[in-house]
Order: sequence, then C-alpha cells, then structure tokens
Amino acid sequence: MTTSIQSEQEKLVDGFGRQVTYVRMSVTDRCDFRCVYCMGEEMTFLPREKVLTLEEMSLVAEAFAQLGVNKIRLTGGEPLVRRNVMELIEHIGDLPQITDFAMTSNGSQLGRMAEDLKAAGLKRLNISLDSLDVERFRQLTRKGDLTQVIAGIDAAVAVGFKGIKLNAVILKGRNDDEILDLLEFAIERGIDISYIEEMPLGEISEHEREETYCSSDEVREVIAQRYELVPTTEKTDGPSRYFRIPGLKTKVGFISPHSHNFCGTCNRVRVTAEGRLLLCLGNEHSVDLRAIIRANPGEIEPVKQAIRESMSIKPERHHFTTDGDVQVVRFMNMTGG
Ligand code: SAM
Ligand code: SF4
Repeated sequence: MTTSIQSEQEKLVDGFGRQVTYVRMSVTDRCDFRCVYCMGEEMTFLPREKVLTLEEMSLVAEAFAQLGVNKIRLTGGEPLVRRNVMELIEHIGDLPQITDFAMTSNGSQLGRMAEDLKAAGLKRLNISLDSLDVERFRQLTRKGDLTQVIAGIDAAVAVGFKGIKLNAVILKGRNDDEILDLLEFAIERGIDISYIEEMPLGEISEHEREETYCSSDEVREVIAQRYELVPTTEKTDGPSRYFRIPGLKTKVGFISPHSHNFCGTCNRVRVTAEGRLLLCLGNEHSVDLRAIIRANPGEIEPVKQAIRESMSIKPERHHFTTDGDVQVVRFMNMTGG
C-alpha cells in the first residue's frame, strides 16, 4: 500500500481549527533604520547571547517544516544586517517542505545581496518604502538613504524574484499625499504594493498614532480617483486583501488590522529573534523555544513537541484599537513585522 507524503505529513492545528502553515521568523531585532512608527530614536537591543544563533534558527525552521509549515518569511529588525545571515537563508532554501520562502527587508542591502538571495532559494521579497522624497524618507526612517533603497529595489527587480511587493505604511499628514506616486513607482517596475495601517505596537513618542491613523478605505478612495480597482480573491497566505487594476501587472493590497479583522483565517505564528514563539501578533501568548533548544542542544524533537503543544494557546483574535491604547508593549522589530 502506498501512502502519499501528504497524508503522512503532520499538521499543526489550533484550538479553533485553523492550520498553521506559515511562520515569520525575526532574524535580528537590530536595524540600520529607526522608522518612526517602528522604533524609538534610542533603542536598546538584545545582548547577543539572548538572540538565537543562526544554527538555532535553522533548527526552528526545520522543526516547523516537519510539522506541515510550507511558508517561512524572514524579517526583523532588518534581516540583512545580521552577520552571516546567508547561512540561514541557504539552509531554509534547501528545506524541501518550504515551497514559499520570503523575506521582508528595508532594501538598504539589496544592491549587494539580491543576486545571492535568489541563488540561495529565496522566492519572494517585500520591501518597505513609505516615501519617494529623499528628505521625507530620511525623516520617516531617521537614517535611511532613499537612493540606496531604490537601487536595492531595482537590483531585486533585475534579478527576477517570483514576487516583489512594496510595503507602505501610510500616516496621515506625513505621506498620505504620496499614495498615488508610490503606486506608480510600483506600476513602472511591474511589482505589487500593499498599503499598511499603522499598528499600535510599542510605545512611541514621535507622533500620536490616533492623529496619523489612515484607514485602508481612505487609501483606496484616493487610488480609485485615478485607477479602477477590481477585488480579487487571490491570497498569498498573508493578511492582505488584493485588488487588480485592469490591464496592469501590479496588484494592490491592503493590510488593515484595525478596519478589517483578519484573525478568522489566521494561519501563522511568529518567532522572535530571542526564540519566543508568539501565537498572535496582538497578544502575549508565547512559548520560550530558546530555553528548550538550549536544554537539548541540536535536538529537533523537543522543539517540535513544544510547537505542537503551543497550538492549544493560540488565541482566537487580536484586539487592536485606533484610540491610541497600546495593548502590546513589544516593538515591531521585536515581533518580526
Ligand atoms: N526591516 C524590515 C522592513 O522594514 O521591511 C523588516 C521588518 S519591519 C518591522 C516589517 C514591516 O513592518 C515593514 O513593512 C514596516 O513598515 C512595518 N511596520 C513596522 N512598524 C509598524 C507599525 N507600528 N504598524 C504597521 N506596520 C509597521
Ligand atoms: Fe527597521 Fe524595518 Fe523597523 Fe524600519 S520598519 S526601523 S527598517 S525594522
């Protein structure tokens, strides 16, 4: 009797019947930028011994792959500023179960790394871009160099990934006048774009989140003045809702944690740079994988068992609000956005 690999494959199913197939792993909490919605100006980063080593991260990725996960996204912090990160990328790129291997990056290092990333098996890239104005880009990222980021985006486009998507966080009064310019930048390059509502992660002092809140519906109205947006049912396993513009390659996505709750179809978990398995972006339910790995060095089974058991504490939904209440004290760079 032949049993298909599919039916032998163990699955991770939570208490609400949702199968977890997607893991976002934060490679580092560090970053070469300090985006105003993501970090404070002065940040204290984790001491090195608290961060999982690249070998430990590889073990976690492999454990998830053996439990039915087929998509891994590396994020951070800025994943490409971690020393020797290519070793981890090559390891994950070699895992046969991981058919969708993606990364979220600020683009600053892509000029020199895009080719190697493709060769290592990375399939898709999300690149953050909130402004096309050099000075404003500098203000929003506090450190970023727009020219370098655009060169990075163009290098990635030239290498030819399966998918490239821009991520733009829209803040009222800061960059909401660039909604169409950013879209046209994506259209010119034949790549996708998602507009993101700012999330209340971490206490920030630079602006009042309730004043800068810009809903996806408002962004969509601005775009609809110039382009026809046709809803699609296409999903990329993420929380975006997608629209097509007739005749164009570019898809337009909206990530709307406030205005459209996407928890019902949640298929993902996160692992922080220090090895905390977070069951929900908006809740503190977590499991300390680092403690398990360091108590059983190099052993995959205890990690798999902890992941299996974690399914019972995955919460049903998050409870973000737009009134400025911070329910989650982690910063996005800690969480792995
Ligand atoms: N450094 C990489 C980058 O910027 O793409 C990856 C990590 S970053 C935390 C991942 C994504 O989260 C970025 O697109 C960023 O714009 C977004 N982000 C950060 N803080 C956010 C917040 N408070 N609300 C919404 N999106 C946020
Ligand atoms: Fe760094 Fe990304 Fe956070 Fe900006 S959004 S500070 S690039 S981690």
